[in-house]
Amino acid sequence: SPFLGRCLIAGNWKMHGTSRDLGTIGRIMTLADTAGDDVGVALAVPHTLIFPAAQMADDSRLSVGGEDCHSAEKGAHTGCVSAPMLVDAGATFTLVGHSERRTDQGETDAEVRGKAEAARAAGLSVIICVGETEAERDGGEAEAVVRRQLEGSLPQGDSAGLAVAYEPVWAIGTGRTPTTADIAAMHDSIRSALTERFGAAGESILILYGGSVKPENAAELLSASNVGGALVGGASLDADSFGAIVRAA
Ligand code: PGA
Repeated sequence: SPFLGRCLIAGNWKMHGTSRDLGTIGRIMTLADTAGDDVGVALAVPHTLIFPAAQMADDSRLSVGGEDCHSAEKGAHTGCVSAPMLVDAGATFTLVGHSERRTDQGETDAEVRGKAEAARAAGLSVIICVGETEAERDGGEAEAVVRRQLEGSLPQGDSAGLAVAYEPVWAIGTGRTPTTADIAAMHDSIRSALTERFGAAGESILILYGGSVKPENAAELLSASNVGGALVGGASLDADSFGAIVRAA
């Protein structure tokens, strides 16, 4: 599993991509196959692309995943997709709790936790996304907010197949990033929360940084304390940019 290596570079295509973009996924797949053995490469794509992307990536080192799932296995939830459906389409992981869903869909920590539990019950690995707003950072509450999100969003049970992505909301899609020192402080705080929760097993959970990761800043961001990879939005839409970030890992 790419969640068990030293580092995980995960792309998040958000609401981008149609079948015309499968060629880009093919190129990302080729780049993933040249990554170091201890670097995992994953791509979260819209539900409509999971099946063809997963078929293409079947024999490669690229893991294809979803961007969200419902907390129920099935039922009267028009327009929603369950974790077993993601598995059926070929996904091996899913994001949950991305800030765009927390904002646009009003997802609460409790809902995110339900989704994470459903994902793991279906056999998916899961990347739980957390992060503070700009007002919360300016108010000196960033670490407290992220701690609270983690407490509410982490699934019951052990730490198997779990990764956390720290994504400050104000850094997503803005070209702005925290200082390396601020990232290190937050990732150290997340590490403590994970070891409090999971004991020694919490030491090996990968904590990704996300928010305006680009080829130019990837090496520096990845060098910060307790940063075990990156969650990449905009730059993952371009295979060369994403490949450069994978090489920086
Ligand atoms: P960005 O998005 O890399 O475009 O800032 C990151 C994310 O939202 O996962």
